[in-house]
Amino acid sequence: MKRLSVSLVFVALLLALSLMPAALPKDKQITLENPIATGGAISCDTWVVLKDATGDGTTLFGKNSDRLPFDSQVLVYNEGREWESDSTLKLEYTEIPQADRTYATMGSSPYWCWGYEMGVNEMGVVAGNEAIYTKQHEIEPARGLVGMDLLRLGLERGATAREALGVMTDLLEEYGQWGSATPTKSDEEGSYDNSYLIADRNEAWILETSGRSWRAKRVGNGTASISNVPTLGEWDLSSGNEIETNWLNMISISGKTRERRSSALLGSKRDLEGMMEIARDHRAIPGICMHTIPVVSEWETVASMIVVLPADGSIEVWWAAGRPCSSVYVPFSFGEVPDMVSKAGKSVTAASKVEQDSFSESSYWWLLHERGNEGLKELEKEFIAGKDSAKDKKEYTERCLNRVLEEIGAA
Ligand SMILES: [Zn+2]
Repeated sequence: MKRLSVSLVFVALLLALSLMPAALPKDKQITLENPIATGGAISCDTWVVLKDATGDGTTLFGKNSDRLPFDSQVLVYNEGREWESDSTLKLEYTEIPQADRTYATMGSSPYWCWGYEMGVNEMGVVAGNEAIYTKQHEIEPARGLVGMDLLRLGLERGATAREALGVMTDLLEEYGQWGSATPTKSDEEGSYDNSYLIADRNEAWILETSGRSWRAKRVGNGTASISNVPTLGEWDLSSGNEIETNWLNMISISGKTRERRSSALLGSKRDLEGMMEIARDHRAIPGICMHTIPVVSEWETVASMIVVLPADGSIEVWWAAGRPCSSVYVPFSFGEVPDMVSKAGKSVTAASKVEQDSFSESSYWWLLHERGNEGLKELEKEFIAGKDSAKDKKEYTERCLNRVLEEIGAA
């Protein structure tokens, strides 16, 4: 019995250590009381399989969005359009000039946020982001753009992954990324730097940022994945300002473990079902499908998206609300998003000022979050089998969504 409790304490200690970013060297501490420096496993995982690696010319993209458990998301479609020359865009913390034209985008968006955790545009550019912690993360005098805003701005203004990268890094240099991106948390607690995986049908870019500096590496073939830890030892592009070669302020062992795990899984899982398996993986601790761990981490996977970019130019999105292991991916054709997943208490509010979101019968996300179960994934076989022959894609998506609601007794 004694040996068992000693082992349990040891395992708990190991677990806690694996989730906590390693302590900062004394002279590098941002502020000791700053939970950015000491916080647990704020996470996410993003991965891509480029067309040479799928075998049929299709590009595949996936991301698990890990957030606080009440940070509900909607799947939204925003049309492309032209804008008057003096138009501006009001975001959570700042107002910026609007572009002359924006591309249509589809993305998974937190209830308080203008931006996306992950998304795709009409040109077939996809992107997902990660929270990272770096030496140069600084408290700035004014709040700027949160990572999710930068991500959507890249998709709205970039016709290729490379163009989106340029848009995002220009805006980052101009406005910075200081400001809470975590609902109910202050700027000091809820602000973080970001890394991104941006891809199109031809290539991918890994972008790592720290304050207003950045570096980016091109991935021309094969697969790539990122987690909550800077990994670029070398890069193709970077900001002009001085960059430290080692950004690692806190080494998130959890992020490193998950990055290794997703990259190992990508060795064999290179089709739609494989993407879903990666998103549901529990082998790492915490899993790529992340669950809250009392005391250690209050974060969990709250939504997951897979984007399929076949060579024919079509775009297919598979979205799961809540944790992938107790949810189900539903197919959406680009631009065909039924109201039932996109309209639920959405506003653009400073994260520090927003209230916790709470259960609503009218929210598809909340219904899945509260009533999802492991059996739901069986429905995916039906959804995959029926999607190509469905004449009306939006009607097919609605049918799938209703089938899910029926299954959890919410229809
Ligand atoms: Zn899970």
